[in-house]
Amino acid sequence: ELNFPLDVVSQDSPGMGFTLHERQVLGIHGLLPPCYRDQEKQMQLIRLNVDKFQEPINKYTYLMGILERNEKLFFRFLSENVEDMMPIIYTPTVGLACQTFGLILRSPRGLFITIHDKGNVLEIMNNWPEREVKAIVVTDGERILGLGDLGAYGMGIPVGKLALFTVLAKVDPRQCLPITLDVGTNNQQLLDDPFYIGLRQKRVTGKEYDDFIEEFMQACVKRYGRGCLIQFEDFGNHNAFRLLDKYRETYCTFNDDIQGTAAVCVAGVLASLRATKTRMSDHLIVFQGAGEASLGIAELCVKAMKNEGTSDADARSKIWMVDSKGLIVKNRPEGGISEQKAKFAHNRAPIKTLAEVVKTLKPTILIGAAAIGGAFTTEILQTMAANNKQPVIFALSNPTSKAECTAEAAYTHTNGTCIFASGSPFQPVTINGKTHYPGQGNNSYIFPGVALAVISAGIRHINEDLFLLSAESLAQIWKPLTKMAQPAFILNQKTRKLSSNPSCTTTTTHQLFLKCMIGHLCCKEA
Ligand code: NAP
Ligand code: MN
Repeated sequence: ELNFPLDVVSQDSPGMGFTLHERQVLGIHGLLPPCYRDQEKQMQLIRLNVDKFQEPINKYTYLMGILERNEKLFFRFLSENVEDMMPIIYTPTVGLACQTFGLILRSPRGLFITIHDKGNVLEIMNNWPEREVKAIVVTDGERILGLGDLGAYGMGIPVGKLALFTVLAKVDPRQCLPITLDVGTNNQQLLDDPFYIGLRQKRVTGKEYDDFIEEFMQACVKRYGRGCLIQFEDFGNHNAFRLLDKYRETYCTFNDDIQGTAAVCVAGVLASLRATKTRMSDHLIVFQGAGEASLGIAELCVKAMKNEGTSDADARSKIWMVDSKGLIVKNRPEGGISEQKAKFAHNRAPIKTLAEVVKTLKPTILIGAAAIGGAFTTEILQTMAANNKQPVIFALSNPTSKAECTAEAAYTHTNGTCIFASGSPFQPVTINGKTHYPGQGNNSYIFPGVALAVISAGIRHINEDLFLLSAESLAQIWKPLTKMAQPAFILNQKTRKLSSNPSCTTTTTHQLFLKCMIGHLCCKEA
């Protein structure tokens, strides 16, 4: 059931959905075939078309065409088919869509602001027709999923994220604004791509970049007020932490890659504690990667352990990180230890490879977020299984090609003992007659709920407690899957009729989470 207003929005064209009366009033009678197609019929048609396309990327292009023409239809279709459409408009397909954005889209959605607009950012924002925007998702395209610098092609990400605001949290699409800040790209392939849609220049950095972001932040507030949420998405590591620190106290903002990911991953760990009957502080966690995702998760784990009564130093001592130069230890000869990483640099001899780290430190939890596909090798998974009754293994890197291991590898090489989640979805795996349902460790469980809660409770500054709270809420309601999620409607291929699916399980976790979050936050603010 859709809760957002159903009046026709300006860019909507229901096409054959116009009634005879509407056609007469609008003076378009005769410009459409005589047949009237109600929304049910249109939904059936979309389903038929989506199923007709074999390649997920073609499904994506088709759905984006619907979004351009008829927003209501798009969101109704997505809302009723979350489980099978999320992998299309979100990870993994959105990754490929971003890589081929210039080829597949006629008029991409969203607002493009370039570095050449510096000094006039507010004017550009005033060109956006909607006045009541409550949530902005912004990227500068420098680290799109695990695919690197995709420049203005990165727009697929804010568009996909905000689609989920509406689909999962029922935020009115008119209140959502996807923005790409185009400061150039260092991706030579794009600079050479004749269909590239962005500025053909190297990335602007330093003071000019910072001033541009500052002007953008101020323009958001001038146009949409202090309460407008600004969600940072897929910025490069060197800017992400800096900008979060700079703006978190003065703007209504959060970084989804650092904080949203942290919340969903800690929720996953908290939920797995129920299965292993342990406390977070009993665990030893190894991260493959020490970037936005890993450091965000690690800091939130520290917070969770401190809530169990563990000291800050003890909590940190249970967390180890591997980056591109190997295990992070104090005085590592290779260096490369930033201020954030230093908080998890312990005293011990360096270790080069992840396999050696896992053998030597014997972690109980292994988390991957380094965008190195296949980094959790058979050997590593077997070591995790040999050292633990129920190893926790999260392969968070997106899209699927970057996942540290597949669900099949995880269950196979741990004899089905592991608790597994991945950033992009995997199908269930059956081994030795038992079917395992992998969890999806993706911030999509967090950001729509956080956004709706922030908007509805009128929160101005989003502090770290909120993410631990959301992790705890999500962990509470999380239940292991015992069957694949089912869509709300099924299409009978013969009769071409849609009928409601009695075994529908669509988005219950998302919906429950939303209720929890809004409840918590509204109470807290009151
Ligand atoms: P990031 O800030 O750029 O961090 C990447 C990290 O990986 C860096 O610490 C880097 O090391 C490390 N790394 C690179 N090569 C390595 C290697 N060979 N061995 C070990 N570590 C290596 O990126 P991020 O924001 O953390 O994102 C990383 C991945 O997580 C992406 O694939 C992204 O899609 C995924 N992610 C998933 C979710 C989710 O909800 N599931 C959310 C956010 C991100 P250096 O520090 O030495 O450069
Ligand atoms: Mn992201």
